[in-house]
Amino acid sequence: RFYEGTVQDITERKQHEEKIRLLATVFASVADGILIAGPELFVQAANPAYIAMTAFEMEELVGQPLTLFHHGAHERSFIAGIWDTAAKTGRWQGEVTSFRRNGESFAASLAVTAVRAPNGVLEHYVLTIADISQRKYQEHQIRYQASFDRLTDLPNRWLVCERLEDAIARAQRAQTKVAVTFIDLNRFKQVNDTLGHQAGDELLKLVARRLRNCTRVADTVGRLGGDEFLVVAPDAADRAAGARLAEKILYSMSEPFLVHGQEIYCGGAIGIAFFPDDGDSADQLLRNADLAMYHAKRNPEHAFAFYDQGMREQTGFHLGMEADLRRAITHGEFELVYQPKVDLAERSIVGAEALIRWRHPTRGTVSPAEFIPFAEDTGMIWEIGAWTLYSAAQSLAEWIGQGLNVGVVSVNLSPRQFQDARLVGFVRSVIESAGIPPERLELELTEGAMIGDIEKAVAILNGLKDIGVKLSIDDFGTGYSSLAYLKRFPIDTLKIDRSFVRDIVKSSTDPAIVGTIVNLADSLGFATIAEGVETNEQAEMLKQQRCHQIQGYLISRPLAVEAFETFVRETMGEE
Ligand code: C2E
Ligand code: CA
Ligand code: CA
Repeated sequence: RFYEGTVQDITERKQHEEKIRLLATVFASVADGILIAGPELFVQAANPAYIAMTAFEMEELVGQPLTLFHHGAHERSFIAGIWDTAAKTGRWQGEVTSFRRNGESFAASLAVTAVRAPNGVLEHYVLTIADISQRKYQEHQIRYQASFDRLTDLPNRWLVCERLEDAIARAQRAQTKVAVTFIDLNRFKQVNDTLGHQAGDELLKLVARRLRNCTRVADTVGRLGGDEFLVVAPDAADRAAGARLAEKILYSMSEPFLVHGQEIYCGGAIGIAFFPDDGDSADQLLRNADLAMYHAKRNPEHAFAFYDQGMREQTGFHLGMEADLRRAITHGEFELVYQPKVDLAERSIVGAEALIRWRHPTRGTVSPAEFIPFAEDTGMIWEIGAWTLYSAAQSLAEWIGQGLNVGVVSVNLSPRQFQDARLVGFVRSVIESAGIPPERLELELTEGAMIGDIEKAVAILNGLKDIGVKLSIDDFGTGYSSLAYLKRFPIDTLKIDRSFVRDIVKSSTDPAIVGTIVNLADSLGFATIAEGVETNEQAEMLKQQRCHQIQGYLISRPLAVEAFETFVRETMGEE
């Protein structure tokens, strides 16, 4: 007995020593700063990374009261809350403003863990501190540069939506209305086609100027893209005020524009939706104003239209769309096409994106841009998305079986699919039934899918990551989500939005934005791919900005399965 006990003690002590050695190694070698403090908040130890981060001397810290927060940066109650929460729940995590020895402040991500003895007495706080000032700066840069339309200097879609959300919040408190005015030019395409792109650009600039001149300071005028503009009027008292605004805009547009020495009559159609009557989110208001505009366009006797609920049903295209979509699922009218993704240096295929096509029996091919939003609204996206995921997985399994070197196949997930509680289980079952290695399947999500409940989004992403699939953020740089959370998303790739690529050669700022995104991605351990690459010039610029993968017409249009297989064989040879 005695003998046994001693052996046991020795093993236990050995294990304990081993553990301590291990911890000491981690303490000394991690990149994050670590401080250990006693229950009275005196510093007991600091690791080399913290010293390097702040330039304090070890003696200035150890044995001294913990002074972690930049003077005046936080409310006292906020700081007290940190220790309180950590003591009560075991852990606190968040972003704080810390400082270095020279007094300079920096943004830090802080995690506080309370360590208790087996008898429950609080013994230490362990603080992990990461310097995220560089990332903060990059985020700011990207946001700033990605907020304005570079042609007209107007706020772009992202920023207009932000402002609209703000206006909604304020109107909610003040019980007032917000008018959302959607403007679409009548003859823009004609100008572009007959007088050329430069003339088109010139016209857009002039339109922007006039819109700004006929609106109030409190209004936001933005460009959504193409020839679509939006005016958010936060102090529109009622419909009469909305009508006055529309008339003012139409009047200002009725004068000819002087473009390259030619007088151009352009004109426009306007649709108006109101908060709170016609929707309570920016998205919904935008869509309803758009629909009203579409009506105004088709009934030229009224140049502007207010949204009303009947419009949804009246609109020719949406009429019967629901029945059509249901039939499409059962009659096999959907098809997937694949667009290769390549490595920039080698031009070898690293993967392909599956894109859905609807071969409508009478309407011909319908673009997903038209029916996906509709499918989202009606909830049919789940069935369509399930079909997409399933058939992409089946094709991938066949390609792997044939030894065809297609890399990682990616599938788009719409926000509503992402939020669906069935998602993680469904993805798992698709992978199992197709018998494919999970890391050969990638899911593309937009930032928009992750707004709202961040904790929930992180939980879903972790659920997907546990299966082993790859995750990518689509249309990166245009979304609404906070970049501050990027670090918490277990994703693999950022897909740089087409809009940055389109302007990268023309504009002097865009190469820098792309470079900033690539740096940010690097620092977070994500890969980057650029989409919509159409010219060699763009590819060259992207290469200079160290973006390594591209996708776009330059390499190939999206291809039907057979054409895609041929393309892969010709580019890669057999596996
Ligand atoms: P996305 O995910 O951003 O897909 C890229 C779109 O850009 C595709 O349009 C593609 O054909 C197009 N494209 C590719 N290369 C170039 C290029 O070099 N220049 C230009 N100008 N365009 C290029 P597509 O196929 O019409 O898809 C539109 C959107 O519809 C997609 O945008 C995606 O958001 C959605 N979508 C497509 N398939 C699916 C799907 O199966 N499920 C879901 N939920 N959404 C889908
Ligand atoms: Ca995509
Ligand atoms: Ca995209």
